[in-house]
Parts: sequence; structure tokens; C-alpha cells
Amino acid sequence: MYRKVFASKVFQRKVVVVTGGCSGIGRALVLRMARAGARLAILDLDPAALDSLVRHLADHLNAEAIGLPCDVAEAEQVSRAIEQVLERFGGIDVLINNAGITHRSTFAETDLRVFQRVMAVNFFGALHCTKAALPSLLERQGQIIVLSSLSGFTPLLYRSAYNASKHALHGLFDTLRHEIKGSGVNVMLVCPGFTATDLRKNALVGDGSVTRHPPLAIGKVAAPQDVAEAIYQGALRRRRLLVLSNVDWRARLLARYFPRLFERILLPRISGLRPSR
Ligand code: NAD
Repeated sequence: MYRKVFASKVFQRKVVVVTGGCSGIGRALVLRMARAGARLAILDLDPAALDSLVRHLADHLNAEAIGLPCDVAEAEQVSRAIEQVLERFGGIDVLINNAGITHRSTFAETDLRVFQRVMAVNFFGALHCTKAALPSLLERQGQIIVLSSLSGFTPLLYRSAYNASKHALHGLFDTLRHEIKGSGVNVMLVCPGFTATDLRKNALVGDGSVTRHPPLAIGKVAAPQDVAEAIYQGALRRRRLLVLSNVDWRARLLARYFPRLFERILLPRISGLRPSR
């Protein structure tokens, strides 16, 4: 009730950590949380992009923010970055595990290195950040938000490593939610549909290099700002699962209850063409 009436105040002065916050959905979330009055800690790879975003937040939204260069796949870098957040702000209220990469290649043509890198960023990245931030989140009865995908509950062709990493996030965070039940910490998994970001442009191919032919998104493509707004609204309500767009709900129900029908009708449509390397 309190959260509903005072929705505009819920994140005011709260400390929000966003991984992969310099681009796409992460950047839109940073801006949305800044507009809600949050203090931001942004973890991403490129120091120049971090500096420019922190300056933009200060100049245009009068927001307090720090940018921390950090590869979330590296546990030590993550624990150093989280220490810096705690030193600067004294605690963490919301952790948004958003950093992610994808690939597009058949299983047979995908090097082990690609599986390892995709799991290291998408799965272990979220694990490292959550491990490091959990004591503070428990102390503050905070929130953990995890960017999964349509791939978190359905197979999508030519993305076996990506699908595996997103399925693994559901296993990890659904378990964690049960284990910390009663602690006051909310765990929300978010499954956006196709969104207009750089994810596909930076997709790896089977040998580990970045694609020279970015795949097109399929069907209706959401704007990152709309996805961020839906996540923000879901966070206000402390939801457990957010599946965005009607197509995804249909895909989810079909994949779960009518898997053969899903494989025949929807899977080829949402997977796109077989990659030609
Ligand atoms: P994006 O490529 O625009 O942004 C990803 C961000 O993560 C970038 O800023 C990148 O620098 C950062 N990043 C990558 N590897 C990192 C690492 N090792 N350490 C720290 N930061 C790292 O992509 P996006 O679409 O905004 O993706 C955000 C999340 O949303 C991802 O988890 C993705 O799987 C998920 N998602 C995206 C879509 C989509 O269609 N774009 C759909 C569903 C889910």
C-alpha cells in the first residue's frame, strides 16, 4: 500500500547497481532509476563510456553516480567494484544483473571458448555480483533484478550457449528466492522480447569473433526505454517474474504445455535463419 501511494519516492536516494549499464536496456534502466532519484553505481567494460554516462547523469539529471570499469566474468574485479560501491554509498538497495552477450552459431560450429565466455558473462557475472552484494541487500531488504530472456524458458535455435546461460539464471535465482524467503529481499527475473539494442551487433560467431552480419531481430522489437519502464514498474511492485510482450507469454505457454506445437510453429519463426558463418 505504502509503495503504491508513494511510488515516486520508493527509489529516492536508494543505491542501485546496474551491470552493463552503458548500453541498451542497462543504460535505459540507469536513466529511469536516476529520474526516480536513485544513486547509481554502473559496472561496465569501457571506462570512457562510463565517464561519459556519469557526466551525462550529473549534468542532465542532477544524479549522483559512479562508473566502475569491471568485467563481471572476473570474480575479483566484481568484489573490488562492490567494495568501492559500499565505501562510496554505504550499502546497496538494488542490484540489477543486466550485463550480457550473445552468439549466433549452431551447436556443432560453436567453439568451447564461446560457451565458456557466454556462461562466464551471463551466468557467472550475475552470480559474482549477487554473491558480493548479498550481505548488504539482506541488511537493507533490497532487490535483485536479473535480465533473462525469452531464451530463459524456450529453446531458440542457433543460440545454445545463450539459452543455456539464461536457463541457468532461472535455476540459480529461483532457488535463491526460496532460500532467502522471509528475509525481505525480492528476486525478480525479467524476460524481455526482442529489443532494439547493440546485443545482436556484438554477437559472437562460432569461432569467438564478433559477427560481421548482425542478425535481424524478429517480429516486433521493443524500445529499451519501454523495457526499462516495464522493469521499473515491476520493481515497484516487487514482482517475481516479468515476461514482457504478449508474444512471449504465448511462446512461454506453448513451449511449456504444447512443446511439439511450439517446435513446429513458433520455434522456426522466432529463431531466424540458420547462420551462414
Ligand atoms: P547491449 O549489448 O546493448 O548491452 C550490454 C551491456 O553489457 C553493454 O554495455 C556491454 O558493454 C556490457 N557488458 C558485456 N559484457 C560485459 C562484461 N563482461 N562485464 C561488464 N559489462 C559487460 O545489450 P542489451 O540488449 O541491452 O542486453 C542487456 C541484457 O538484456 C542482456 O542480459 C541480454 O541478454 C538481455 N536481453 C536482451 C534482449 C534484446 O533483444 N536486446 C532480449 C532479451 C534479453
